[in-house]
Amino acid sequence: MRVVVDLLKCESNGLCVTQAPSVFDLTDDDELVVLAECPDESQRAAVEAAVKMCPKQALSLVEE
Ligand code: SF4
Repeated sequence: MRVVVDLLKCESNGLCVTQAPSVFDLTDDDELVVLAECPDESQRAAVEAAVKMCPKQALSLVEE
């Protein structure tokens, strides 16, 4: 799986960072960064929760 972020939609509220801190992070300038663009399967539940919780629908998962 691959994580795709639409930075034009992201409002940097950090909810995804809370859900999956090994996959998402915020810079000091509050810009979202993806630490693991293709996360391990062990991260799937956390990443799927982050996708669901994002209030801006800025996250999606692409199956590869
Ligand atoms: S939860 Fe959504 S809006 Fe919030 S930081 Fe993550 S991608 Fe951005």
